[in-house]
Amino acid sequence: MDKNIQIAVVGSGYVGLVAAVCFAEMGHTVICVDNDDRKVAALQGGDTLIHENHLPELLERYRNTKIRFMSDLGEATRECEAIFIAVGTPQSETGDADLSYVEAVACEIARSINGYKVIVEKSTVPVYTNEWVRRAIERNGVDRNLFDVVSNPEFLREGTAVADFLHPDRIVVGADSDKAAALLQEIYAPLTSGEYYKLPNAIEGPCGPTEPPPLLLTSTKSAEIIKHASNAFLALKISFINAVSNLCEATDANVEQVALGMGLDSRIGPKFLRPGIGYGGSCFPKDVAAFRSVAEQMGIDFNLLSEVEKINVQQKKRFLAKVRSALWTLRTKRIGVLGLAFKGETDDIRESPAIDLVEMLLGEGCSVTAFDPAAMKRTQDVLPATSHLKYVNSAYEAAQDSDALLILTDWPEFASLDLDRLNKIMRYPIIIDGRNLYDPHVVAQHGFTYLSIGRPASN
Ligand code: NAD
Repeated sequence: MDKNIQIAVVGSGYVGLVAAVCFAEMGHTVICVDNDDRKVAALQGGDTLIHENHLPELLERYRNTKIRFMSDLGEATRECEAIFIAVGTPQSETGDADLSYVEAVACEIARSINGYKVIVEKSTVPVYTNEWVRRAIERNGVDRNLFDVVSNPEFLREGTAVADFLHPDRIVVGADSDKAAALLQEIYAPLTSGEYYKLPNAIEGPCGPTEPPPLLLTSTKSAEIIKHASNAFLALKISFINAVSNLCEATDANVEQVALGMGLDSRIGPKFLRPGIGYGGSCFPKDVAAFRSVAEQMGIDFNLLSEVEKINVQQKKRFLAKVRSALWTLRTKRIGVLGLAFKGETDDIRESPAIDLVEMLLGEGCSVTAFDPAAMKRTQDVLPATSHLKYVNSAYEAAQDSDALLILTDWPEFASLDLDRLNKIMRYPIIIDGRNLYDPHVVAQHGFTYLSIGRPASN
């Protein structure tokens, strides 16, 4: 394939590690840096540490050949031409993005610059971060001609992260320098030229074969805003359909029919019109808050985003009310919970609405027996098992002797449970589905009381 570029990726989490293996898959040589020594050791030993399709096979293919792992950012900076910053940008107490990790990395890079470097913001950051990174590097005594800072936001989704990275809808490069833009174009050339997709063992896109993606060149500020605006818009779409689902419940309409009817309009599109228990994860909640905060600081009235957040909080409370409406009282009830991750196909529980609901149920005096195919370990680290909270190894064990079974995460395997078996082992045949995984009539035919989101109840 095209030119092999020496790339450093700083931060080996969901984004950094995926970017690193994908850059290797695209033919580049990568140093993956993390300041967590245990993580570095595990990755060196071939343990991906996160649940993500294709990640183990790519790590195995390139470990010790095209990818090295280390904690020494200085060495990585000296060896590489492009340095991608992919560290966390969590929400601070004020709602702003906490950029202290990005700042720490920028200062550390500055201390080791030994020639022209392009520093790339891969983390999701608010507008103007680019200028702060540049200033931080200059303040550490680096000549302005020795580096450029560009913004290259990441749009991958956990669960399909590798396929998304290699088959993006678009690649956004915000660069205020032609030289830096050219390097980023070279890095992504295997994708934009379509050459990667011709390889016999190329990883397929999440929806099968795709066209080469466009690379959109913008100013750095525009690129930073593109990422925040995109996530805020997706969160808005989710809150919108959740609000519509509440209206459907109040009027006995069916939100699935409504969403289908809306989504067939090509101006709206069918994606992100699935109602549920609210959005979560490490991105939408913090990015909506950060974008709202940026607007506030600029004196822009963007209260729409506060409404998006309000609907999202209410959606969890409405679901709890639904559980109560099915069980009358909650204290001492035994609840089976399917799903802890913030969505299916991932082990990520950050800001998971499922975890919030488990905590609410425990707070109401319920006993919870929970199962998730990948997120149990992470959940137990933050919510250890107690006499009221048990973790079990299958959906059926979670359902055993329960007063109701709740579906909180859209894992595909939860959509094909043996309903007759469930009915036999539960104390009461009640399913409350926060992800609309079943046809209400089918579940009712198996003798269940079935409540879902925005659809008429069946029993
Ligand atoms: P993560 O928490 O999984 O990974 C961050 C990593 O950075 C950790 O391994 C941490 O040890 C490391 N780190 C922190 N400080 C460091 C330092 N000084 N030097 C070296 N390593 C350091 O986070 P993530 O989910 O990969 O997200 C990273 C960024 O990408 C965030 O800004 C996020 O908003 C953005 N993003 C995330 C996703 C997603 O789906 N997770 C998608 C698009 C964008």
